[in-house]
Amino acid sequence: MQAPQTPRKPLKPLDEALQELLAHARHQAGAQLVDTFDADGRVLLQAAVSPLQVPPQDNSAMDGYAVRAAECVGGTAVLPVSQRIPAGTSPEALAAGSVARIFTGAPVPAGADAVVMQEDCELLEDGRVRIKVEPRGGQWIRRAGEDITQGATVIEAGTRLTPAHLGLAASMGFARLQVARKPRVALFSTGDELVMPGTVAPQDMPAGSIYNSNRFFLRALLLRMGCEVTDLGIVPDDREATIAALADAAMDHDVIVTSGGVSVGEEDHIKPAVQELGQLDLWQINIKPGKPFAYGRVNRESGTGFAHFIGLPGNPVSSFVTFQVLVRPFLLRLQGVQHVLPRAIEARADFVWPKGDKRREFLRVRYNESGGLELFRNQSSGVLTSTAWGDGVVDNPAGTTIAMGDSVRFIPFAELMA
Ligand code: AMP
Ligand code: MG
Repeated sequence: MQAPQTPRKPLKPLDEALQELLAHARHQAGAQLVDTFDADGRVLLQAAVSPLQVPPQDNSAMDGYAVRAAECVGGTAVLPVSQRIPAGTSPEALAAGSVARIFTGAPVPAGADAVVMQEDCELLEDGRVRIKVEPRGGQWIRRAGEDITQGATVIEAGTRLTPAHLGLAASMGFARLQVARKPRVALFSTGDELVMPGTVAPQDMPAGSIYNSNRFFLRALLLRMGCEVTDLGIVPDDREATIAALADAAMDHDVIVTSGGVSVGEEDHIKPAVQELGQLDLWQINIKPGKPFAYGRVNRESGTGFAHFIGLPGNPVSSFVTFQVLVRPFLLRLQGVQHVLPRAIEARADFVWPKGDKRREFLRVRYNESGGLELFRNQSSGVLTSTAWGDGVVDNPAGTTIAMGDSVRFIPFAELMA
């Protein structure tokens, strides 16, 4: 007689899992004041409201002559030079019937309403200048406040700062910025088969062993997400060791990220260990690769709160993809980022995918020279080459086939790793 089968729970849809994760990641990291110099990649917690207008005054966009346009009709005007205005100086009003020598970035004198570039002028021997063109009123003048108006919210709270933002903040005079503290993340890999590169030479690798690759890209991805990472190495496939490692990591970290051991085999100890020390809120997502993703919490023995727990699948591509579609938004939200979801692009599939999977799939693809997407030859969750070869993933809904030339939803790695 066959044992009665327990009906399988339907897998959690990705969007639902994501919403739950983001709810758990209500902005947590505390605030910190950092030098604007050092704020690249950090998350701004206090909106940058400009205390001044930028540029502060009308200034010249060219090296040339500041003029009254009405005095330069016909392209034949010859006028004396009444003053010289280098950048960083404060000019006098432009005397009627004269021009002012002016340089890029220098304030435009009162009365002048155009700048004529020096290439369109001729300096005569008597020191006067011939204006060889008829200037448009306002030409080559950068207007005060044309970049930033005083009192404007220039950088919203919840913005992840880029080099451009640092420049923008500096242009408003901000030497320091209020940003989110970096989440402290403990990272460990599970698996008795894992060997660290450098500890055993390839030719001496024991049968059944493999190098630990997840640890390398996970650490690098965590750093890119603005985390402070403690690398706790490899934890053996053993219940007690797993419990001890989790309990220890929870003490002084905000988040624990593990890879492997979160499936259903007897050697998968992560799930029961988390349940013993805290709770498991999420397990198994309806995506491929990446089904055995887990989220929960590990309570601190000290009784002071908990560390978030994120269990990634062991298969390298599953680990890589779940990090990008689930962990990345979570870590960004933890730092107070508003827009945490990657932007997708419509793109043309230059491949066929004749058999859609039951799960939502993330196919590794790259651009070809005609701007279409090509599929990596092997979409196995163990083939890490696809992630380095690819430019990103096609987000393919469950049960969907793709015909040559179809429009698909493409998410670039540039978007997922930034
Ligand atoms: P697991 O989720 O522990 O059952 O692992 C699934 C597969 O991923 C197995 O083939 C493991 O050997 C492999 N794997 C697990 N962890 C790693 C790792 N850190 N680096 C490379 N492969 C791994
Ligand atoms: Mg394992």
